[in-house]
Amino acid sequence: MTEAEDPSHNRLKHHFAQRVIHQARQVLEVWQRLQQREWNTADMAALNDANLGLLRYAERFGQAEHARLAGDIDRSLQAVLANRGRLSSDLISALSQAMQRLSRTGLRHGDQFEQTFLPPLRKPVYLALQDLERAERLAQQMESFGLIAQPLDSAAAFHSAMAERHPAAIVMDVDFAGRGCGLQLAETLQQGLEQKLPLLFYSHEDTDAPTRLAAVRAGAKEFYSASLDASSLIERIEILTHAAHYEPYRVLVIDDSRAQASHTERVLNSAGIVTRTLTEPIQAMLELAEFQPDLIILDMYMPECSGTELAKVIRQHDRHVSVPIIYLSAEDDLDKQLDAMSEAGDDFLTKPIKPRHLIATVRTRAARARSLKARMVRDSLTGLYNHTHTLQLLEDASSWARRDGKPLSFAMLDIDHFKKVNDTYGHPMGDRVIKSLALFLKQRLRKSDHIGRYGGEEFAVVLPDTDAATAARLLDEIRRRFAAIHYPAQPHDLSCTFSAGIAELGAGVHSSSLAKCADQALYAAKHGGRNRVAIFAE
Ligand code: GH3
Ligand code: MG
Ligand code: MG
Repeated sequence: MTEAEDPSHNRLKHHFAQRVIHQARQVLEVWQRLQQREWNTADMAALNDANLGLLRYAERFGQAEHARLAGDIDRSLQAVLANRGRLSSDLISALSQAMQRLSRTGLRHGDQFEQTFLPPLRKPVYLALQDLERAERLAQQMESFGLIAQPLDSAAAFHSAMAERHPAAIVMDVDFAGRGCGLQLAETLQQGLEQKLPLLFYSHEDTDAPTRLAAVRAGAKEFYSASLDASSLIERIEILTHAAHYEPYRVLVIDDSRAQASHTERVLNSAGIVTRTLTEPIQAMLELAEFQPDLIILDMYMPECSGTELAKVIRQHDRHVSVPIIYLSAEDDLDKQLDAMSEAGDDFLTKPIKPRHLIATVRTRAARARSLKARMVRDSLTGLYNHTHTLQLLEDASSWARRDGKPLSFAMLDIDHFKKVNDTYGHPMGDRVIKSLALFLKQRLRKSDHIGRYGGEEFAVVLPDTDAATAARLLDEIRRRFAAIHYPAQPHDLSCTFSAGIAELGAGVHSSSLAKCADQALYAAKHGGRNRVAIFAE
C-alpha cells in the first residue's frame, strides 16, 4: 500500500492541514484588528507571533503554499517592524497584499482554476439537533453552500468536538440530549468562554417566554422554532461569521507643498493607512480613478486652483460623490472655513493638527464612507452589486482586459419560471430563492469575479481573465449544483433552475455591446429549453 492509499495517513494529513488553517485564521484575526485601531506595539507583536507560528506549522506539516505565504508575510512584517517610525505606503501595501493572499488561500470554494488541496479556512458549524437525521440533511445542504457543518449526536460528541476546535457557530436544539439539556449545555459552555460563540437556537415546538429568555441569556443570536430551513440559516451564519475586509484605508493627499504632504503621509502611514500624494491638483481626476482612495485630504490654497474649486470638480463625477473630502489648511478664519465646507467638503482641519486627531478623523470618515459606498453600490436584498455598479465594473474590467491583452467574459443569469415560484409559494419564498442564489454565486465564483443583481431575478457576472468556454464550464457547474438544492416548503419542496448567457470581449464584441450579446445568449438558452448555459455566437 502506498502512502496515498493509506487512510490513516490521509487522516493525519487532514488533521495537520487543519492545524495550519487554524493558525492562518489567527494571523488574519490579528490583522483584522489592526484595521480597526492604531497600530500599537502589542498588536504588532501578536501578529508577528501568530505568523511565526504559521510558518512553523506549515513547514513542519509540509504545507508548501502556506509556508511560502507565511514567509512572504514575515519578510514584509520584519520590514514594517524595522521601520515603525517611518512607515511607507509601499511597506503597508506589501504586507496587506501578503495578508490578502493568505485570506484567499483557504476561502476559495469550488474554484476550478486554483484549487488548493487544503480544506477551506472556514471553521465548521456544529449542528446539535435532537433529530440526527435532520441535522445530517441540513449539513448536506450547507455543504452545497461551501460551509462545513458537523452534525453531533450526543453531549459527549459535542464536548469532544468543542475540545478539538471551536466552531464558527453552533445550532443548538433546546432539547438536544434531553429535555431542556441543550439550553443548559449552551449556558455552561458560554460561561467558560472568554469570547462568546455565535449561537442559534432551535426548538421543534412552540417555545414559551422563559425558554426564549434563557436562550437570550445564553447568547442566542436567533431562535428558530418552526421549520428550520437551510437558506435562512446559512444567510444568518454568513453574516455572523462575516469575513471582514483586510484592506487598509487609502488616502489621497493633494497639496502643492511637498513638505506638508510628506508630513501628512508620515502621520497616516504610522497608523497603517496607505497614502498617495499629488502636488498638481490638475491631475486629480486621473489619480482618483486609478488609486480609488477612501478619502481625500485637500489643501485650501494652491497656485493652480483652490481647494474648493477642486472639490467641486471632484463632486461633479457620479463615481466620486461619496468620497469624503477633508480640508487641511492653516486657514483659521471660521467664515472662510464655513464657505469652503458649504460648497463641497466634509470636514475642516486646521494646521498644525495633532497626529492622533488627524488619524482618528481619517479613520472614522473613511470607515463611514466605505460602509456608505457598500450600501450605495449594493443591492439591499442580496448584498450583490446593483445594476449601475455592475455595469461600471464591467466597463473598468473591459478596459483593463484590453490594456493587458487578457480575455474577459460577461454572463447573465435568469431564474427559470420564477413567476411560478411566487405564485405557488408566495413572494417571501421567491425572495429567499433570490437571496440563496446570490449567496451561492458568491461562494462558488472566484474572488476576482464581480457578481451583480441585474434586475428582479436576473444576475450578472463579470469574469476577468476568463474566456467564454471557461466561463461556461464554471457556470454550468454552478447551474448543476443550484438545481440540486431543495428548499423545504409546502405543499412540496421547491427546487429551481436558472439559464445563463455568456459573451466574451473580442473582435466582434466591444465592451459596449457585451451586455447586449450576453442577453442574446441568455435568450437563446431560454429558448433552447431553459436550465442551460449558452455562449453568444454571431
Ligand atoms: P423565464 O423562465 O422566462 O425567465 O420565466 P420567469 O417567470 O422567471 O420570467 P418573468 O420575467 O416573466 O417573471 C419574473 C418574475 O420575477 C416576475 C416578478 O414578479 C418576479 N420578481 C422580480 N423581482 C422579484 C423580487 O425581488 N422578489 C420576488 N419574490 N419576485 C420577484
Ligand atoms: Mg426568469
Ligand atoms: Mg426575468
